[in-house]
Amino acid sequence: SRVSAALQVEDLCVRYGGVQAVRSVSFTVEPGEAVGIIGANGAGKTSTLRALMGLVPRTASTLSFGESDLRRTPARNMVRHGIGYVPEGRHVFSGLSVEKNLMLGAYSKGWGRSQKLELDGIYEQFPVLGEMRQRPAGALSGGQQQMLAIGRALMSKPDLILLDEPSMGLSPKLVDDTLAILLNLCGAGLSLLLVEQNAELAFGATSRCLVVESGEVVTEGSTKELRADPQVRRSYLGI
Ligand code: ATP
Repeated sequence: SRVSAALQVEDLCVRYGGVQAVRSVSFTVEPGEAVGIIGANGAGKTSTLRALMGLVPRTASTLSFGESDLRRTPARNMVRHGIGYVPEGRHVFSGLSVEKNLMLGAYSKGWGRSQKLELDGIYEQFPVLGEMRQRPAGALSGGQQQMLAIGRALMSKPDLILLDEPSMGLSPKLVDDTLAILLNLCGAGLSLLLVEQNAELAFGATSRCLVVESGEVVTEGSTKELRADPQVRRSYLGI
């Protein structure tokens, strides 16, 4: 029963001075659904996520999650609305222990029994984080840091996770591991919005995708349809 909210985005725009990075993007993420945004470098994927989070100035005619209107919600309050964010490049605190990094993910809710249970749950889901709990996060491999960044976001018990380019810098094997983690999250009823340059990963993890070019949605559809689309295959799968 944890997930009952839909993300609704209508006419989202981001402008950096003279550059319009996101042009009237509209989409929804239904409860428990995994949606992908794919596109080349610079297409506006990261700006879209940062705009949803309130990390860059944006306009939208609708930006809501469940009953909450998020158009004026600052980034630091998103977690209270059930939205978790895993930024591009992971941004773990490399000098702090794995466990401290995870605990920071729960800070807005204080530290108590429920947070301790959540921490145990994360060690169960990612045993390697449990094994390395006292090590500094900087000692982890790229793939382990990605797990840590996802684990940290999970500590706030989000209903929706925004995930920016989890495949970045990971070997193909670790991309497969990441895919398994994402499928696992969705199986648990979490909603997911995944931004990826790696279309193969996005198609594997989601049921529906948007294709963005120059800040605009140029195609969208079920993963199945997009996989079969000759244009998408040429441009994003290299086939
Ligand atoms: P990436 O693969 O790098 O994540 P992306 O698809 O996420 O690419 P964005 O990073 O959102 O694309 O960038 C979209 C456009 O906005 C690009 O033209 C980029 O140069 C521009 N841009 C991004 N951030 C800024 C900024 N802070 N100031 C000015 N222009 C920016």
